[in-house]
Amino acid sequence: MEIKITLLPGDGIGPEVVAEGVKILKTIGQKFGHNFKFSEALAGGIAIDQTGNPLPDESLAMCQQADAVLLGAVGGPKWSDPSAKVRPEQGLLRLRKELGLFANIRPVKVYPALADASTLKREVVEKVDLVIVRELTGGLYFGKPQGRQDNAQGRAAVDTMYYTEGEIRRLMRVSFELARQRRKKITSVDKANVLASSRLWREVAHEVATEYPDVAYEDILVDSCSMFLIRRPADFDVVATENMFGDILSDEASMLVGSMGMLPSASLAEGKFGLYEPIHGSAPDIAGKGIANPLATILSVAMMLRTTFNLSQEADTIEQAVEAILAAGHRTADLATPGQPKISTTAMGDLVAEALKA
Ligand code: NAD
Repeated sequence: MEIKITLLPGDGIGPEVVAEGVKILKTIGQKFGHNFKFSEALAGGIAIDQTGNPLPDESLAMCQQADAVLLGAVGGPKWSDPSAKVRPEQGLLRLRKELGLFANIRPVKVYPALADASTLKREVVEKVDLVIVRELTGGLYFGKPQGRQDNAQGRAAVDTMYYTEGEIRRLMRVSFELARQRRKKITSVDKANVLASSRLWREVAHEVATEYPDVAYEDILVDSCSMFLIRRPADFDVVATENMFGDILSDEASMLVGSMGMLPSASLAEGKFGLYEPIHGSAPDIAGKGIANPLATILSVAMMLRTTFNLSQEADTIEQAVEAILAAGHRTADLATPGQPKISTTAMGDLVAEALKA
């Protein structure tokens, strides 16, 4: 089959890691007989420099016509002046909105060979294999009213946490479907003891749970969840939550793994369409040096194959190759312990590609 993928390499290390993701897709295409067609579009700072717009209409159209999108990262000091009229992040927000990407999926898996890279003790993190599913287009970041409401008493501001049952139901369904492919356990995170929107969240989550009697379900308050993610992270399987709680918890959970360079993500729309990207940013401090870790992008490619294209065997093969390469002791600079040899971005990509061919 022909599979159309739009690439948005973006800024900083974005193009360096996306090139390795493409290398892996081409290798998978040859091995399993798939025909990947790539087209590249501008997004982020580079798009501002060339067109004045962080997401030109042409780039958006190319994403809308694709079966899936692979993004590197956008942003950097050159475009980060807060008073600037256009900023790279605006392009990302527009992309999420226009593509209807409502579910952000972030797996956090600790590879045995890297358990010592975490700041937590090996025995706490070594069996961690969880996924955070974050609602991405509702809640506090989008609710109205929002903004300054200065009045006679002084300065004031408001944000609104607003959810409809439809938004909650579709997010919970994505989470339950994911749990079915994993260890069949869901933790729904809310603040139902205080927030009305969380009480609705819990009500709807319970209704959806009745459609999935084979999946074990629990509710947990967001404050307890943040504690348990540090105390007993290996107990979690799928963690489903609203936008802001997910924003905070997913960054907390990412620190269970030693490096940002290891963590993939997917943002899904209704149906199978998705945008896949490493969770890290453009890492301007190491951009252009050829030392960025491409594994987060390579693992994002594996998520794309499994989730959007139902190619589980291909995805498993990539994940097993990554695990074997780490077990054999190969490390990019971000993963190396003192004295351990460090390999380049392209060398790491080559090793994964070679392991796939074997
Ligand atoms: P960052 O993730 O770019 O970097 C944080 C630290 O992690 C840096 O020391 C960096 O060198 C290291 N790092 C990140 N990815 C790595 C990799 N693959 N291999 C090795 N080391 C890696 O976060 P930041 O420095 O806060 O942000 C830099 C820029 O990226 C900012 O402009 C920010 O707005 C942007 N950003 C973009 C996205 C995105 O495109 N989705 C996400 C986060 C940040």
